Amino acid sequence: MRIVVLAGGIGGARFLRGLKRAVPDAEITVIGNTGDDIHLFGLKVCPDLDTVMYTLGGGINEEQGWGRTDETFHLKEELAAYGVGPDWFGLGDRDFATHIVRTQMMGAGYPLSAVTEALCDRWKPGVRLIPMTDDRVETHVAVTLPDSGSAAGEGERKAVHFQEYWVRLRASVPAEAVVPVGAEHAKPAPGVLEAIAGADVILFPPSNPVVSIGTILAVPGIREAIADAGVPVVGLSPIVGDAPVRGMADKVLAAVGVESTAPAVAEHYGSGLLDGWLVDTVDAACVERVEAAGIRCRAVPLMMTDVDAAARMAREALTLAEEVRAV
Ligand code: GDP
Ligand code: CA
Repeated sequence: MRIVVLAGGIGGARFLRGLKRAVPDAEITVIGNTGDDIHLFGLKVCPDLDTVMYTLGGGINEEQGWGRTDETFHLKEELAAYGVGPDWFGLGDRDFATHIVRTQMMGAGYPLSAVTEALCDRWKPGVRLIPMTDDRVETHVAVTLPDSGSAAGEGERKAVHFQEYWVRLRASVPAEAVVPVGAEHAKPAPGVLEAIAGADVILFPPSNPVVSIGTILAVPGIREAIADAGVPVVGLSPIVGDAPVRGMADKVLAAVGVESTAPAVAEHYGSGLLDGWLVDTVDAACVERVEAAGIRCRAVPLMMTDVDAAARMAREALTLAEEVRAV
């Protein structure tokens, strides 16, 4: 069975670990979000690709869900001693090596997709990991920052890089708009459209619908290829009990006018894209609403407390895919 998964960072990676356990013989292609990518200290950092690679390759910091296990931060401390920032983005010594190798290869002319393949030669994630595009796409967030100088509460409106919004500001101000800068001119990376066209099933893990899966779908050609693939497309809700399980997805959902509920996210993707949607058992009451939108829906436990729980979710998603294929 050939499975294509669109993935962000933590939610995507943990689901993928379960999927691999559930169907060890499947050929899994992961289309990774690169809208979170950022240049720091002259290095190209790809947080979502690395989270998938480290999680599936056994190098992830389990508690954090990102970054390397057994990490140290000497390099960051030395940079700070020179007054060189930013200090708000956690790059550890082991992690730095990945970014150095990536930047060096890109400097030598290799596209990100080839670099990712080379990095995966070491990590052996057991899936084919392809960035959504080799072109530069950067998600920016429009915010109004409180202006400390003015008593009137007038703020400064500006666009900040997604990482600055998420990591430095911790989504503490409303996201007024989310823009995947460069996406409209980006081309799917080699292998992306081919994988979608050759898939038996396409899955949306419980990744962020706006800044992870939404960004991948913003690359011209990808959404259309999925809609036209003629195979079941099944998603799992990252929203459980009207709140994100982790992180601040509610903030970026608000920016695109979508309420933070499992059915609203399904309707946001729409029946033109999604055939099936899994919600958590606590959201069982919304199954009818999702089905009324033309999307087959089931309520099952959706908390990835361990790899087995994620594997059960993956099996449920594949079962739902077979159900929609049969109709
Ligand atoms: P990021 O790039 O690291 O933010 O990761 P993703 O976009 O792949 O996933 C983020 C989403 O995963 C968040 O919106 C969370 O609500 C969701 N998430 C994390 N853990 C779980 C879980 O155990 N169950 C479900 N249903 N969603 C989860
Ligand atoms: Ca991300």
